[in-house]
Amino acid sequence: MPSGVRLPLRVHLPVPDGFVADPKDPKHWWRMDKARFASPTGRRNYSKASPPLCSSNCLPPPTAVSALYKPSLRYAILGAGFAGLSVAWHLLKQSSDDSRICIDIYDDAGIGGGASGASGGLLHPYSPKAKLLWRGSECWRECLDLLIIANRAVEARASSNAPQDSFCSFKERIVWKRGIIRPASQKNVDILRENAQSFSESCYLELLDRSAAQYLVPDLCVPLDLAVYMPLAMNIHPKRYLQALFLACNDLAECEEREIYLFKESINSLHQLSEEYDAVVICLGAKVDKLPELSGKLPLRTCRGVIAKLQLPYDLPGEYDHQRPSILSDAWLAFREPRSVLVGSTWDWNSKDYASSVSEEEASRAMEELMPKASAVYPPIRNWTFVEAQAGLRAMPPLTAYGSLPLLGCVDDIIGESVKCRYWLVGGLGSRGLLYHGFVGKLTAQAVLSSNESVLPSEFTQWKSISNIIVLLHLGEKMDFEDGIFEYNGSAQVAMVGKNCFAIASDRRLGVNLQTVATDFQRIFKIHDKLYIGLSGLATDAQTMYQRLVFRHKLYQLREERDMKPQTFASLVSALLYEKRFGPYFCQPVIAGLGDDDVPFICTMDCLGAKELAKDFVVSGTASESLYGACESMFKPNMEPEELFETISQALLSSVDRDCLSGWGGHVLLVTPTEVQERTLKGRMD
Ligand SMILES: Cc1cc2nc3c(=O)[nH]c(=O)nc-3n(C[C@H](O)[C@H](O)[C@H](O)COP(=O)(O)OP(=O)(O)OC[C@H]3O[C@@H](n4cnc5c(N)ncnc54)[C@H](O)[C@@H]3O)c2cc1C
Repeated sequence: MPSGVRLPLRVHLPVPDGFVADPKDPKHWWRMDKARFASPTGRRNYSKASPPLCSSNCLPPPTAVSALYKPSLRYAILGAGFAGLSVAWHLLKQSSDDSRICIDIYDDAGIGGGASGASGGLLHPYSPKAKLLWRGSECWRECLDLLIIANRAVEARASSNAPQDSFCSFKERIVWKRGIIRPASQKNVDILRENAQSFSESCYLELLDRSAAQYLVPDLCVPLDLAVYMPLAMNIHPKRYLQALFLACNDLAECEEREIYLFKESINSLHQLSEEYDAVVICLGAKVDKLPELSGKLPLRTCRGVIAKLQLPYDLPGEYDHQRPSILSDAWLAFREPRSVLVGSTWDWNSKDYASSVSEEEASRAMEELMPKASAVYPPIRNWTFVEAQAGLRAMPPLTAYGSLPLLGCVDDIIGESVKCRYWLVGGLGSRGLLYHGFVGKLTAQAVLSSNESVLPSEFTQWKSISNIIVLLHLGEKMDFEDGIFEYNGSAQVAMVGKNCFAIASDRRLGVNLQTVATDFQRIFKIHDKLYIGLSGLATDAQTMYQRLVFRHKLYQLREERDMKPQTFASLVSALLYEKRFGPYFCQPVIAGLGDDDVPFICTMDCLGAKELAKDFVVSGTASESLYGACESMFKPNMEPEELFETISQALLSSVDRDCLSGWGGHVLLVTPTEVQERTLKGRMD
């Protein structure tokens, strides 16, 4: 495959050999790429079926240059896996008839060189509990559409007796429509009854008893006497499918006078790409984290999977009839030929091994893991022998209320790009890339062409709030602060328990990193006479949170005609924080109050609302490490109020001296059943 060429160069030098000047603007040159001029439309064609490459005397006349080679819209797609090629197809398909578009796809490993090419190719829209996935019907339909399109492209070539393509055989199968069967668990059955309405009409489920299931697959183990059968589910050859889809893109581009090129080139940074692209769609699968502009900023985990290919030796009976379904269980068995099956897959979480090749050792480990699972559901598999193994790295997205959804959206702000709607992400397709790719490719193409992110369902873009947190945490790393945004303003908070009393204290500094902005800042807030909350972390969030808490407490007072107990209040704070877990308040509260019978209650929690209760003291803020040490050495049980005041004050002052982000004295509140004393401490004022 030819290696890629760079996009038009803008330089103010005499036009060298190999370039032509744009007649409309002589400052613009177009690098002459012979392959690009291979067809009358100027389209690069990688198939061996293409006409022979022309020499430069095939160049269009100069007047035609700008008309042919200066499309009004240029898109770059990084990655030629399921995601990248689906976006390419939909960009070509959806762009308006009068727009001239050119798509450059970059993939250093070629079509299907990542997880897509290594995948098992099982396709159905259900979760392991046989529940229809979120927007599962649409995903299923869009995927079927692409499969039909890819199949047609191949069939058209086969029927026109076109010469064999170098990378796509017209004769081999892309799709095996054999259905999938899964021995049911009790949960499947319950869910089937509950969700009878939510099945995808176009990929329905059937519940089979043991005899019906074993009629389909004679040796299938059906321990609960029930199996879920998806008659329309299928099994595809992922690499052949992707190659056929690329052919379909080429055909569409040719009909519509559009351009699509594939560059076998590694993109190591987004700066490497020409600025002339109107949009860049990043579909790099698990390798997206290697782009420096996105590294560590996406909520993705990686998981390597190994698939083993087995064969039934020719001298043994037991061929798998081509009408029998593939099998899903703890391991899956995707039968392709009567004597050939793929068994998958292993789950090696947090692996960073991108290689598709599998070492002997890794293959034998995979077999040890997969064979017991596979033979538990289909015992005759023990007679099949290992042939080879393939592997891929999945990019796993976080779990949301709608399941593990792909990450879509514009990533300009994450990248730090000022031009709007330039960089887009299609990532985190997890273990269902085949199912999702048609739908997410279509949505992304719509968003890119309209430069409008809001056409994407918010469920697909909500990950960005998590990413903003990650970006803020990275900001902190750059500043050399461990926790980033939590350290931006600096703070020190402590609450301590005495005999029927408690004290809560905080420092008085408000900073912006190392710069001190105020020296009398209040971080302790009163909820009622016997209940206080200290909010360390980002000062603005602390104030917002306090206002929301006061509002909620007032509603409680109106409804219940009493004050909230400290324990109830802690639960309220925890729920409020957890509710906002995808875009949290950057605060760590310290709560202290007197409960029933004036028993003191103290607790702290993290910014997601995970409570930590204590019977002696709790701390938070940038000085928390030194506060722990000081409190541990000074605390005594059952202290009287004055002693408690002395202890908490000494602990606070000695700790803030060891933390450059907090200090400037302190506020201490000493609360007993009968009174509240507020005192200000003077310490080192620098
Ligand atoms: C073992 C295994 C089994 C699976 N089985 C199934 C299954 O049965 N059904 C299912 O639906 N899903 C399955 N999946 C999941 C599915 O394969 C993925 O969700 C899907 O492939 C992700 O597609 P993608 O296009 O996002 O990423 P990829 O397919 O990884 O594509 C990314 C592309 O970007 C290229 N690239 C990366 N970095 C660069 C760079 N710097 N410059 C240029 N190019 C670059 C890579 O070469 C690659 O071709 C499986 C995955 C694995 C690992």
